Amino acid sequence: MVQGAANWNTEQTQEWLENYVDDWVSFYRKHTTEGKVASYIPILAEANRDHLGISIMGKDGMTIRSGDVDIPFTIQSISKVLSFITACMERGVGYMLDRVDVEPTGEAFNSIMHLEMKQVKKPFNPLINAGAITVTSILQGKTSDQKLKPILNLMEAMLGYRPAINVDVYESERDSSMRNRAIGYYLLETGFLESDLNITLETYFKQCSIEVTVDDLARIGMILANDGEDPKAEKEIIPRQVARIVKALMLTCGMYDASGKFATYVGIPAKSGVSGGIMAVAPPRVREEELPFIEGCGIGVYGPALDNKGNSIAGIRLLRHIAKQWDLSIF
Ligand code: GLN
Repeated sequence: MVQGAANWNTEQTQEWLENYVDDWVSFYRKHTTEGKVASYIPILAEANRDHLGISIMGKDGMTIRSGDVDIPFTIQSISKVLSFITACMERGVGYMLDRVDVEPTGEAFNSIMHLEMKQVKKPFNPLINAGAITVTSILQGKTSDQKLKPILNLMEAMLGYRPAINVDVYESERDSSMRNRAIGYYLLETGFLESDLNITLETYFKQCSIEVTVDDLARIGMILANDGEDPKAEKEIIPRQVARIVKALMLTCGMYDASGKFATYVGIPAKSGVSGGIMAVAPPRVREEELPFIEGCGIGVYGPALDNKGNSIAGIRLLRHIAKQWDLSIF
Protein backbone atom coordinates (compact mmCIF):
# COMPACT_ATOMS: atom_id res chain seq x y z
CA MET A 1 0.00 0.00 0.00
CA VAL A 2 2.92 2.31 0.41
CA GLN A 3 3.58 3.13 -3.22
CA GLY A 4 1.77 5.79 -5.18
CA ALA A 5 2.08 9.14 -3.45
CA ALA A 6 4.88 11.32 -4.72
CA ASN A 7 4.74 13.80 -1.87
CA TRP A 8 3.93 12.43 1.56
CA ASN A 9 3.23 15.74 3.22
CA THR A 10 0.18 17.02 1.38
CA GLU A 11 -3.29 17.28 2.86
CA GLN A 12 -4.45 14.69 0.37
CA THR A 13 -1.83 12.24 1.59
CA GLN A 14 -2.79 12.93 5.17
CA GLU A 15 -6.42 12.10 4.45
CA TRP A 16 -5.39 9.01 2.56
CA LEU A 17 -3.19 7.74 5.39
CA GLU A 18 -5.87 8.62 7.92
CA ASN A 19 -8.38 6.43 6.09
CA TYR A 20 -6.02 3.49 6.29
CA VAL A 21 -5.31 4.04 9.97
CA ASP A 22 -9.07 4.36 10.68
CA ASP A 23 -9.62 0.94 9.12
CA TRP A 24 -6.77 -0.59 11.11
CA VAL A 25 -8.00 0.92 14.39
CA SER A 26 -11.52 -0.48 13.84
CA PHE A 27 -10.05 -3.86 12.98
CA TYR A 28 -7.72 -4.05 16.01
CA ARG A 29 -10.30 -2.64 18.41
CA LYS A 30 -11.88 -6.12 18.35
CA HIS A 31 -8.80 -7.43 20.13
CA THR A 32 -9.46 -5.30 23.20
CA THR A 33 -11.91 -7.97 24.40
CA GLU A 34 -8.99 -10.38 24.78
CA GLY A 35 -7.28 -8.12 27.34
CA LYS A 36 -7.96 -6.86 30.84
CA VAL A 37 -7.62 -3.36 32.27
CA ALA A 38 -5.11 -3.05 35.13
CA SER A 39 -6.77 -3.43 38.52
CA TYR A 40 -3.90 -3.54 41.03
CA ILE A 41 -4.20 0.24 41.17
CA PRO A 42 -7.96 0.29 41.88
CA ILE A 43 -8.84 3.46 39.98
CA LEU A 44 -7.25 2.18 36.76
CA ALA A 45 -9.90 -0.56 36.73
CA GLU A 46 -12.45 2.12 35.84
CA ALA A 47 -10.96 2.57 32.34
CA ASN A 48 -13.07 1.53 29.34
CA ARG A 49 -11.61 -1.68 27.96
CA ASP A 50 -12.87 -0.96 24.41
CA HIS A 51 -10.95 2.26 23.96
CA LEU A 52 -8.26 2.37 21.31
CA GLY A 53 -6.67 5.51 19.91
CA ILE A 54 -3.50 6.46 18.06
CA SER A 55 -1.67 9.62 17.08
CA ILE A 56 1.29 9.62 14.69
CA MET A 57 3.33 12.81 14.35
CA GLY A 58 5.97 13.40 11.71
CA LYS A 59 8.95 15.72 11.86
CA ASP A 60 7.16 18.21 9.63
CA GLY A 61 4.22 18.25 12.05
CA MET A 62 1.90 16.12 9.89
CA THR A 63 -0.28 14.21 12.35
CA ILE A 64 -2.48 11.20 11.70
CA ARG A 65 -5.04 10.64 14.46
CA SER A 66 -7.58 7.89 14.76
CA GLY A 67 -9.92 6.29 17.30
CA ASP A 68 -10.22 7.45 20.91
CA VAL A 69 -7.65 10.22 20.75
CA ASP A 70 -9.19 12.68 23.21
CA ILE A 71 -9.19 10.55 26.35
CA PRO A 72 -6.60 11.65 28.90
CA PHE A 73 -4.82 8.86 30.75
CA THR A 74 -1.95 8.65 33.22
CA ILE A 75 1.50 8.17 31.81
CA GLN A 76 2.49 5.42 34.31
CA SER A 77 5.69 3.61 33.34
CA ILE A 78 6.28 5.79 30.30
CA SER A 79 7.33 8.40 32.89
CA LYS A 80 10.43 6.26 33.55
CA VAL A 81 11.83 7.48 30.24
CA LEU A 82 11.35 11.09 31.31
CA SER A 83 12.72 10.68 34.84
CA PHE A 84 15.82 8.98 33.44
CA ILE A 85 16.30 11.75 30.85
CA THR A 86 15.90 14.36 33.59
CA ALA A 87 18.36 12.62 35.93
CA CYS A 88 20.91 12.30 33.08
CA MET A 89 20.52 16.01 32.34
CA GLU A 90 20.94 16.88 36.04
CA ARG A 91 23.80 14.54 36.92
CA GLY A 92 25.39 13.49 33.64
CA VAL A 93 25.22 10.16 31.85
CA GLY A 94 28.33 8.72 33.55
CA TYR A 95 26.94 9.30 37.03
CA MET A 96 23.65 7.62 36.11
CA LEU A 97 25.18 4.61 34.36
CA ASP A 98 27.35 3.98 37.41
CA ARG A 99 24.16 3.58 39.42
CA VAL A 100 21.69 1.91 37.03
CA ASP A 101 22.58 -0.73 34.47
CA VAL A 102 21.30 -0.98 30.87
CA GLU A 103 20.50 -4.70 30.70
CA PRO A 104 17.05 -6.23 30.05
CA THR A 105 15.81 -8.50 32.83
CA GLY A 106 13.42 -10.85 31.05
CA GLU A 107 11.27 -10.41 34.16
CA ALA A 108 8.05 -8.55 34.92
CA PHE A 109 8.23 -4.80 35.52
CA ASN A 110 7.78 -5.12 39.27
CA SER A 111 10.00 -8.15 39.90
CA ILE A 112 12.11 -8.24 43.06
CA MET A 113 13.33 -11.81 42.64
CA HIS A 114 16.08 -11.04 40.12
CA LEU A 115 17.55 -8.23 42.16
CA GLU A 116 17.94 -10.51 45.11
CA MET A 117 18.92 -13.72 43.37
CA LYS A 118 21.68 -12.19 41.29
CA GLN A 119 23.05 -9.98 44.06
CA VAL A 120 23.29 -7.18 41.52
CA LYS A 121 25.60 -4.21 41.99
CA LYS A 122 22.97 -1.87 40.55
CA PRO A 123 19.37 -2.26 39.30
CA PHE A 124 19.16 -3.79 35.83
CA ASN A 125 17.82 -0.79 33.92
CA PRO A 126 15.92 2.46 34.49
CA LEU A 127 12.73 1.20 32.82
CA ILE A 128 11.82 -1.46 35.39
CA ASN A 129 10.43 -0.39 38.75
CA ALA A 130 13.60 -1.06 40.78
CA GLY A 131 15.69 1.00 38.35
CA ALA A 132 13.08 3.74 38.00
CA ILE A 133 12.66 4.12 41.76
CA THR A 134 16.44 4.37 42.08
CA VAL A 135 16.52 7.05 39.33
CA THR A 136 13.76 8.99 41.10
CA SER A 137 15.79 8.88 44.32
CA ILE A 138 18.70 10.49 42.43
CA LEU A 139 16.61 13.41 41.10
CA GLN A 140 17.57 16.63 42.83
CA GLY A 141 15.25 18.20 45.42
CA LYS A 142 14.21 17.63 48.99
CA THR A 143 10.47 17.25 48.43
CA SER A 144 8.53 15.26 45.86
CA ASP A 145 7.35 18.48 44.20
CA GLN A 146 10.92 19.73 43.89
CA LYS A 147 12.01 16.42 42.38
CA LEU A 148 9.08 16.43 39.99
CA LYS A 149 9.55 19.99 38.78
CA PRO A 150 12.30 19.36 36.18
CA ILE A 151 10.30 16.43 34.75
CA LEU A 152 7.30 18.72 34.30
CA ASN A 153 9.58 21.46 32.92
CA LEU A 154 10.96 19.01 30.37
CA MET A 155 7.46 17.95 29.36
CA GLU A 156 6.32 21.56 29.11
CA ALA A 157 9.27 22.36 26.85
CA MET A 158 8.21 19.54 24.52
CA LEU A 159 4.42 19.87 24.70
CA GLY A 160 3.93 23.61 25.01
CA TYR A 161 1.76 23.22 28.12
CA ARG A 162 2.38 21.99 31.65
CA PRO A 163 0.73 18.61 32.22
CA ALA A 164 -1.25 18.00 35.41
CA ILE A 165 -1.05 15.22 37.96
CA ASN A 166 -4.20 13.15 38.32
CA VAL A 167 -4.62 13.27 42.08
CA ASP A 168 -7.14 10.41 42.23
CA VAL A 169 -4.73 8.07 40.43
CA TYR A 170 -1.82 9.26 42.59
CA GLU A 171 -3.76 8.55 45.80
CA SER A 172 -5.03 5.22 44.52
CA GLU A 173 -1.50 4.08 43.71
CA ARG A 174 -0.02 5.50 46.92
CA ASP A 175 -2.59 3.59 48.96
CA SER A 176 -2.30 0.29 47.11
CA SER A 177 1.25 -0.15 45.92
CA MET A 178 2.62 -2.60 48.49
CA ARG A 179 4.97 -4.17 45.97
CA ASN A 180 6.61 -0.86 45.09
CA ARG A 181 7.12 -0.26 48.81
CA ALA A 182 8.72 -3.71 49.05
CA ILE A 183 11.03 -2.84 46.14
CA GLY A 184 11.79 0.48 47.85
CA TYR A 185 12.75 -1.19 51.12
CA TYR A 186 14.94 -3.64 49.26
CA LEU A 187 16.69 -0.75 47.48
CA LEU A 188 17.10 1.02 50.79
CA GLU A 189 18.65 -2.03 52.39
CA THR A 190 21.08 -2.51 49.52
CA GLY A 191 22.14 1.15 49.60
CA PHE A 192 20.95 2.06 46.10
CA LEU A 193 18.64 4.89 47.16
CA GLU A 194 20.04 8.41 47.25
CA SER A 195 17.03 10.11 48.93
CA ASP A 196 14.57 9.37 51.67
CA LEU A 197 12.42 6.35 50.76
CA ASN A 198 9.05 7.97 51.40
CA ILE A 199 9.88 11.10 49.40
CA THR A 200 11.21 8.89 46.60
CA LEU A 201 8.05 6.77 46.47
CA GLU A 202 5.80 9.83 46.69
CA THR A 203 7.66 11.31 43.71
CA TYR A 204 7.50 8.02 41.80
CA PHE A 205 3.72 7.69 42.32
CA LYS A 206 3.22 11.33 41.26
CA GLN A 207 5.34 10.97 38.12
CA CYS A 208 3.29 7.88 37.16
CA SER A 209 0.10 9.94 37.62
CA ILE A 210 0.97 12.69 35.13
CA GLU A 211 -1.92 12.98 32.71
CA VAL A 212 -1.27 12.85 28.96
CA THR A 213 -2.99 12.16 25.65
CA VAL A 214 -1.88 10.16 22.63
CA ASP A 215 -0.90 13.44 20.94
CA ASP A 216 1.46 14.24 23.82
CA LEU A 217 3.14 10.84 23.54
CA ALA A 218 3.42 11.21 19.76
CA ARG A 219 5.08 14.59 20.18
CA ILE A 220 7.63 13.39 22.75
CA GLY A 221 8.30 10.34 20.56
CA MET A 222 8.82 12.56 17.53
CA ILE A 223 11.38 14.68 19.40
CA LEU A 224 13.22 11.51 20.46
CA ALA A 225 13.10 10.30 16.85
CA ASN A 226 14.76 13.59 15.95
CA ASP A 227 17.58 12.92 18.45
CA GLY A 228 16.17 15.25 21.10
CA GLU A 229 15.69 18.33 18.93
CA ASP A 230 12.36 20.06 18.40
CA PRO A 231 12.41 20.29 14.58
CA LYS A 232 10.13 23.32 14.31
CA ALA A 233 11.92 25.45 16.90
CA GLU A 234 15.29 23.94 15.84
CA LYS A 235 16.07 23.69 19.53
CA GLU A 236 17.77 20.89 21.43
CA ILE A 237 15.52 19.82 24.29
CA ILE A 238 17.22 16.54 25.18
CA PRO A 239 20.99 16.12 24.63
CA ARG A 240 21.61 13.85 21.66
CA GLN A 241 23.65 11.35 23.67
CA VAL A 242 20.84 11.00 26.24
CA ALA A 243 18.22 10.61 23.49
CA ARG A 244 20.34 7.84 21.93
CA ILE A 245 20.74 5.92 25.19
CA VAL A 246 17.04 6.24 25.96
CA LYS A 247 16.05 4.85 22.54
CA ALA A 248 18.39 1.88 23.01
CA LEU A 249 16.84 1.24 26.44
CA MET A 250 13.32 1.52 25.03
CA LEU A 251 14.15 -0.99 22.32
CA THR A 252 15.71 -3.52 24.69
CA CYS A 253 13.70 -2.97 27.90
CA GLY A 254 10.69 -0.75 27.12
CA MET A 255 8.03 -3.43 26.78
CA TYR A 256 9.13 -5.40 29.85
CA ASP A 257 9.48 -9.11 29.31
CA ALA A 258 7.91 -8.76 25.87
CA SER A 259 10.69 -6.42 24.68
CA GLY A 260 12.45 -9.07 22.59
CA LYS A 261 9.31 -9.95 20.69
CA PHE A 262 8.40 -6.32 20.17
CA ALA A 263 11.89 -5.55 18.84
CA THR A 264 11.65 -8.55 16.52
CA TYR A 265 8.14 -8.06 15.17
CA VAL A 266 7.74 -4.27 15.33
CA GLY A 267 11.36 -3.16 15.37
CA ILE A 268 11.15 0.32 16.90
CA PRO A 269 11.91 1.70 20.37
CA ALA A 270 8.77 1.88 22.53
CA LYS A 271 7.71 2.22 26.14
CA SER A 272 4.43 1.06 27.61
CA GLY A 273 2.52 1.83 30.79
CA VAL A 274 -0.17 -0.08 32.73
CA SER A 275 -2.86 2.48 32.00
CA GLY A 276 -2.61 1.29 28.38
CA GLY A 277 -0.37 3.93 26.85
CA ILE A 278 2.52 3.22 24.49
CA MET A 279 5.02 5.80 23.28
CA ALA A 280 6.87 4.60 20.19
CA VAL A 281 9.70 6.20 18.26
CA ALA A 282 10.26 5.53 14.56
CA PRO A 283 13.67 6.97 13.68
CA PRO A 284 14.41 8.21 10.15
CA ARG A 285 15.22 5.35 7.80
CA VAL A 286 17.08 4.86 4.58
CA ARG A 287 15.00 3.06 1.96
CA GLU A 288 14.89 3.04 -1.82
CA GLU A 289 11.16 3.65 -2.10
CA GLU A 290 8.97 6.51 -0.86
CA LEU A 291 7.42 5.69 2.51
CA PRO A 292 5.19 7.55 4.96
CA PHE A 293 7.15 9.32 7.70
CA ILE A 294 10.51 8.35 6.20
CA GLU A 295 12.12 11.18 8.19
CA GLY A 296 10.89 9.63 11.42
CA CYS A 297 7.83 10.03 13.61
CA GLY A 298 6.56 9.64 17.14
CA ILE A 299 3.55 7.46 17.89
CA GLY A 300 1.23 7.62 20.88
CA VAL A 301 -1.23 4.78 21.48
CA TYR A 302 -3.91 4.34 24.11
CA GLY A 303 -5.67 1.02 24.67
CA PRO A 304 -6.26 0.15 28.33
CA ALA A 305 -7.03 -3.56 27.77
CA LEU A 306 -3.68 -5.21 28.59
CA ASP A 307 -2.09 -8.54 27.78
CA ASN A 308 -0.54 -10.73 30.47
CA LYS A 309 2.74 -8.77 30.34
CA GLY A 310 1.00 -5.48 31.12
CA ASN A 311 1.17 -4.05 27.58
CA SER A 312 -1.82 -2.73 25.59
CA ILE A 313 -3.06 -5.82 23.74
CA ALA A 314 -4.69 -4.07 20.79
CA GLY A 315 -2.07 -1.30 20.86
CA ILE A 316 0.79 -3.73 20.25
CA ARG A 317 -1.06 -5.42 17.40
CA LEU A 318 -1.96 -2.09 15.82
CA LEU A 319 1.65 -0.91 16.04
CA ARG A 320 2.90 -4.17 14.58
CA HIS A 321 0.54 -3.79 11.63
CA ILE A 322 1.47 -0.16 10.95
CA ALA A 323 5.18 -0.88 11.29
CA LYS A 324 4.84 -3.64 8.71
CA GLN A 325 2.74 -1.60 6.28
CA TRP A 326 4.99 1.45 6.43
CA ASP A 327 8.25 -0.43 6.95
CA LEU A 328 9.03 1.47 10.15
CA SER A 329 11.47 -1.08 11.57
CA ILE A 330 14.95 0.22 12.21
CA PHE A 331 16.41 -3.12 11.11
N1 GLN B 1 2.76 3.00 38.52
C1 GLN B 1 2.99 1.69 38.04
C2 GLN B 1 3.75 0.84 39.05
O1 GLN B 1 4.85 1.15 39.39
C3 GLN B 1 3.71 1.75 36.76
C4 GLN B 1 3.90 0.38 36.22
C5 GLN B 1 3.64 0.29 34.75
O2 GLN B 1 3.13 1.18 34.11
N2 GLN B 1 3.97 -0.86 34.22
O3 GLN B 1 3.30 -0.15 39.49
